[in-house]
Amino acid sequence: MKNNIDEHIDAWRKEIVTDLQALVRLESVAGAAAPGAPFGPGVRAALDFVLSRARAMGLVAKDVDGYAGHVEFGQGHEMVGILAHLDVVPAGEGWTHPPFGGEVVDGRLYGRGTVDDKGPVIACLYALAALREAGFRPVRRLRLILGCDEEGGSWESIKHYFSVEEKPLYGFSPDAEFPVINAEKGHLWFRVEKEWPKETRGNDPSILAAEGGTRPNVVPDRCRLVLAPGNRKEKFRRALQTADPNLIVMEAGENLQVEARGRAAHASLPEQGENAIGRLFTALAQVAEWLPAGQAEAVRFLAEASRHDGTGLGIDQRDEVSGALTVNLGTLAWDATRLVGELDLRYPVSLEGDQLVTALRERMATWNLKMEVKHHLPPLYLPADHPLVDKLLLVFREKTGREAKPLAIGGRTFACALGTGVAFGPVFPGRPELAHQADEYIDLEELILIAKIYAAAMVALAG
Ligand SMILES: [Zn+2]
Repeated sequence: MKNNIDEHIDAWRKEIVTDLQALVRLESVAGAAAPGAPFGPGVRAALDFVLSRARAMGLVAKDVDGYAGHVEFGQGHEMVGILAHLDVVPAGEGWTHPPFGGEVVDGRLYGRGTVDDKGPVIACLYALAALREAGFRPVRRLRLILGCDEEGGSWESIKHYFSVEEKPLYGFSPDAEFPVINAEKGHLWFRVEKEWPKETRGNDPSILAAEGGTRPNVVPDRCRLVLAPGNRKEKFRRALQTADPNLIVMEAGENLQVEARGRAAHASLPEQGENAIGRLFTALAQVAEWLPAGQAEAVRFLAEASRHDGTGLGIDQRDEVSGALTVNLGTLAWDATRLVGELDLRYPVSLEGDQLVTALRERMATWNLKMEVKHHLPPLYLPADHPLVDKLLLVFREKTGREAKPLAIGGRTFACALGTGVAFGPVFPGRPELAHQADEYIDLEELILIAKIYAAAMVALAG
């Protein structure tokens, strides 16, 4: 019967491509709510399209208040969930193919969402249809759950969905990489704040303003500072340029303007970037004693907090399974009244999140900083010998003939919304990461293989 399933998928090759093209043409960037469309008309149209295709295939389809939906196949008390999403990030710049055109060129289907996550949605839809057509009788129900706001990060669609629908026994999310991601580091995003005492400055050196970064989860590639140098203008200039020849130090009237450039990277891989805030304040920390005590303390803090391995905050930790804790000092806003900074931490799966938060609170207090946790998502970890991981790895090996070991990452995937879940595909090892990029595409040969892998995974988990 297994081959029979694959034969159905092969026979539907044309329909798979046509349906993915139609879905890509629906510009489903989540936006302002409209009646019956909590995430806007684009996402609503994408949800309607997939649900109506599912019904036409003889599958059960349900719209859950426009927040999300599902396509179900089979009978059984328990349910296996496959969690995907229909919203996409905006097209952005730099495309050589229309981002919502669904063009096929040289065996590739181009468009926003082809990999993330519409290609996988269509692959899973046809996998379910193939199981049905082949007469597969699962002992657990299989449910393709369609989220509508994965990209925004708040996941309201799935929170609403699971507040009214049952939770799966376990499942996977086809929204990352093959072979299987079984460990996702904990994610902590927090804000620190310090207010400046109202004091008149006189002619002593002082920082007037500083700003850097755009978002906590991106390594900042730019930081700027305005310094009133008092009678130490030349000394500051020389000290800063000696400490870091790459700093740009300019005169701006009485003041000095200092600029640092870095290299942007995702906060889960801060070692691939270069933190511009860190660069500027590490240089400035060398002459911090020339500044008022409160400012000097803040400068030293920013220099320490920008070290991506956490040594500056005394929280450097690592484990075998998921590697090292990482820190990204992502944003800084410093003006006449206060300093506000945002940090993004990814911590190893073996660490206890609440203990880490307590330790950080104590640490921030020693720097005279107020700390506020903005977002905390505990780690996700299933041991390599968990049946879910084991079965999916086996499917991947069988279908590709490739060796496969589970992966640990610092990013977060939709899988953690499943409870017991892992990320499984659709990007093959060694293939470029195209999600959120210009000219996102899916290779059509791979799309068919992905559908076969997902069908086999469904058999393995529900059979
Ligand atoms: Zn995605």
